[in-house]
This record gives sequence, C-alpha cells and structure tokens, in this order.
Amino acid sequence: MPGFELFGDAERKEVNDVLESGVLMRYGFDGMRNGHWKAKELEAALQDKLQVNHAQLVSSGTAAVSIALASAGIGSGDEVIMPNFTFVASFEAIMMLGAIPVLVDIDDTLTLDPEAVENAITPKTKAIMPVHMCGSMADLTALKAICDTHNLLLIEDSSQATGATYKGKPLGSIGDLGCLSLDYVKIITCGEGGAVLTNNEAYYRNADHYSDHGHDHVGADRGAETHPFLGYNFRISELNAAVGIAQLRRLDEFVEKQKEHYTVLREALAEIPEIEFRRVPDGGEESYSFLSFFLPDLETTRKVMQAFKENGLDACFHYYDNNWHYIRKWQHLTNLKTLYPLSQEVMDGLSYLKTKTFTQSDNYIGRNISCLIKLSWSKEEVSSRAKKMVESIKSVMA
Ligand SMILES: *Cc1c(COP(=O)(O)O)cnc(C)c1O
Repeated sequence: MPGFELFGDAERKEVNDVLESGVLMRYGFDGMRNGHWKAKELEAALQDKLQVNHAQLVSSGTAAVSIALASAGIGSGDEVIMPNFTFVASFEAIMMLGAIPVLVDIDDTLTLDPEAVENAITPKTKAIMPVHMCGSMADLTALKAICDTHNLLLIEDSSQATGATYKGKPLGSIGDLGCLSLDYVKIITCGEGGAVLTNNEAYYRNADHYSDHGHDHVGADRGAETHPFLGYNFRISELNAAVGIAQLRRLDEFVEKQKEHYTVLREALAEIPEIEFRRVPDGGEESYSFLSFFLPDLETTRKVMQAFKENGLDACFHYYDNNWHYIRKWQHLTNLKTLYPLSQEVMDGLSYLKTKTFTQSDNYIGRNISCLIKLSWSKEEVSSRAKKMVESIKSVMA
C-alpha cells in the first residue's frame, strides 16, 4: 500500500480515453463519449472482483459510509456502534446524517471487541459498523451473530483492507453493506473516490439515487428523470473512475507483493520473544497492507518509535500519539467543536464521551506499532529494513 506507488502507463491509458472525448461526467452525454463509461465499467469490475451484486461508486470513502447508512434508512438520533480506533471519517460519516456514533473498545485484532459491542446496544441502536483496520478484519462471525440476535444492520468499513478476505469472501461483501475508500493513499486508488457494496437491491437503488440529487436514472434525458426522494451530490468523476479501473486490475499483484514484503519483516521480528503480532480472526486472510505488532508496554513502544526514527525507518505508526486515528486525540469530537449548531439529541447522545474511559483500547493501542508495507520497496530495501527494525527494537529492550 498505497497503489499510487505503482501509478503508470496502465492508469494513464484509461485517463486518456476520458481526456480524448472530454466527457468528464459519469452520467449522460451518450453521443459524445466514444462509448466510454468509466464509472459504470469500474462498478462492474468491483462487483466481479469483490463478489457483490451491486457496487455504487461515489466521491469518497467518507461519502460511501454516509450513503450506506442513509440507504438503509439510518438518520436522526439513530445510534451506530463503531470502534474507537479508526480514521475520523467513520464518526464524521455518521454525524453527517444527524445520527450518533457510539464508540467502543477494540481488542487484540485492532478492531471491534464483540463483547464491548454487545454492552453498548440500546433501544436506539440501528447498526454495528466494524472498521477493518490496517489490512485485517473484525470477527465478523461474532458480530453477525450479535446483529441477528438484536435485529441490527452490519455495515463494514473495509477502506483499509480491500484485498483481504474472511472465510474466503472479500471484506465489504459480508455485511448488509460494505464501504471502500479509493482515496490517494489506499491500496487501490482513484485519486479520490469510494464505493458502496451490497447484495440488497433496494439499498443499492437508494445509494444510486441519493448520491446524485435523487435522480432515478431512468431513460436518457436527465431533465426528465424523476426524484423519488431527496438526495445530494456525491458523484465520482470519469477521470477518477478511469484511474481505478487500471488499479483494480492490479489488486492481486499488489496484495502478493505486500505479502512478500510483510513476510520478510514478520519473520525477522518473530525472533524477538517480547513481540506479539495482532490477532487475525480464524478464517481471515490479510491484505498485508500493514505489519502490526504489540510491545510489552507504552514506554517501550515510545522508545522503539524514537529508535525507528533515528534509524530512518519511516511509515511506522504509533496511533496512541497520532491525532487522526484514536479517540485519545479526538478532542474536537469530545468537545463537539462544530462550525454550526448540532441538534440537542446529538449533543445529548455524545455526552458520554466527556467521561467514558477506554482502558482496554489504551492497553492495545499504547503498545501497538503498525508499519505500512510499501509496494515500491526492492528486495534489498525490505531486508535492510527488517535488519534495522530488529536492531532498533533490541537496542531498546537491552
Ligand atoms: C480512508 C478511510 C476512510 C475515508 O476515506 P476517504 O476516501 O478519504 O474519505 C474511511 N474509513 C477508513 C477506515 C479509512 O481509512
């Protein structure tokens, strides 16, 4: 990860198709577009590759999450259970609908702890949204069982784990809805973009209309189309979709390359007895986008990060001290710093954040380092990196 590292002629060719006709929009202009429908083509390819009946491309991963929720009828005052370790996009997407993000602990998978989820269910809960962080996944069997018992929707955010599978099925295809980000730093990129995945025909139709001002997309005259319900504009452009077509064709190649690099690093670190790797649920196969491991305590982890820095090891993250991925640094959320007034219902719904503590997650995130696996590394770079990582860690442990 990320796919932009290997951006090349294949991506340029697809974009040039669009530039030649100049039709940058995904809908309409049938006569001018030389038969190119890049967004439609990428949607068909995503359906095929990720084994879902429907894929709806949209403008971003954040939009994809909001649209997925809206398509299933989630909105004002509804509660959505999500992990406290994710990218800020997860709660943004929920709050955009006037719904309430209910943040709960993660476990040694670095994703939702099913027991914490169960304890957070209230009569207002509508959905559980696991986020498959850093190339691996939540325990979808346990979460699905909870959803079935309590009649809740399962909505997967697999933005960081495209290419990973659970019990043989691609992530994003297992819940009622799945969401992908195709932004510039994800395993496959459109530059900017996202996708909603589902096997549910009604949710798909809702997502299709909602992301384009409510257009029903019937017939060939946009002005004459009807608007069965209100929507917004979260369209992807043809230029962005074109990049994604070339990138998706390379997904298997990307995963394979990541697995090679990941394996070298993991085997080297496995020599250090104090290191514990993140748990992958039974039946899971990672996308190998990150190598994530735990050290014995917070202090050691901070020292190892410092040693990594001194040895020129970039792209390793200690999320405990990162502003974007863990609740500890989300003061703008806990203090509800918004540009505009929020409803009383949302303010009340989020007041738990002022006092709630997350000692279980602190214990995992405080001791976790996740290292990005780059596609562009040479074999020599990977082995030299492995050596430096081991030396850095041993220097701290000594
Ligand atoms: C990147 C990301 C998103 C949001 O994607 P954008 O396309 O940048 O809006 C959502 N969830 C997770 C877990 C992400 O990593």
